[in-house]
Amino acid sequence: LEKTYLLVLDADDTLWESAVFFRRAEEDFLALAEALGLPAELVRETVRRRDMERLPVTGYGAVPYTDTLEAVLREFVNDIPEWVRRSLADIRMCLLNHPILLLPGVNEFLKSVSGMPFFTVVYTMGEEIHQLDKFRRSGLKGLVDAFEIVSDKTSEKLRRLMNSLGYTMDRTIVVGNSPRSDVNPATGLGCRAFLLRRPYMWEAELEEFENPELITEIGDLAELLPLLTDLQNEHVSSNENLA
Ligand SMILES: [Mg+2]
Repeated sequence: LEKTYLLVLDADDTLWESAVFFRRAEEDFLALAEALGLPAELVRETVRRRDMERLPVTGYGAVPYTDTLEAVLREFVNDIPEWVRRSLADIRMCLLNHPILLLPGVNEFLKSVSGMPFFTVVYTMGEEIHQLDKFRRSGLKGLVDAFEIVSDKTSEKLRRLMNSLGYTMDRTIVVGNSPRSDVNPATGLGCRAFLLRRPYMWEAELEEFENPELITEIGDLAELLPLLTDLQNEHVSSNENLA
C-alpha cells in the first residue's frame, strides 16, 4: 500500500488523556496548600502565573510543572515540613506515572487508517523520557508508522518532520487538540488541520487561529475517518481531471 499522505497525530489529549491529570495534580497541590493554612485562591493564581512564566525557560512537561508547584510552595512557606515534602513527591509520581487512558475510538481509528494510504506519525512535545514511556504504555506502537518527540511544536519543526519523511504540505494532515501547538503550526505551512475539541485546555495552548479556512473541528477521531476518505477522493478525482 502506497502511503500517499502524511497523517501527523498529536498524542496528549488527542490519543490519550493528559490535561485531566495536570488538573488533578493542581487540585492535590491546592488541598495541600489549604492543609498548611494557605489562601487557596492566591496559591492557585500564583501557580497559574508561575506556570506561564517558566514555560519559555523550562519547556513543556510534567517534571517542570511539578518543579513549579514546589517553587510556589517555597514562596509561601519558609521551611517545608517533611510530610509536605513527601506529599509533593506523591503528586509528582502520580503525574509522571498516570495511567494511559486512550480516548474513545483511538484503537479502531488507527486500525482503520492502517488500511488506508496514510503514513501515520505520532508527534508529541515535552520531555523525551516521559513521552516515550507514555507511548510505550499506550500499546499503540504496532498501530502507527513512526513516533517523534520535540521540545515544542512550531511550523519550522513540523516542516523538518515533513521533509525528513518526504511529504509536502498539500499531502500532510495534522490532527491535535491545541490551537497553538497543533493547528497554527500546520496551517502556517498550508497543511490541513483537524482540531479535536477537548473539555480541558491548558491556558498556554489557547491562541487565535491564523488560517481558519484550513481547519476542521471534530469531536472525536471516529468523526475524522470519513473526512480522510473524502480527502483521498478529492485528490483521486483531481488527479483524474489532470489525466
Ligand atoms: Mg495535545
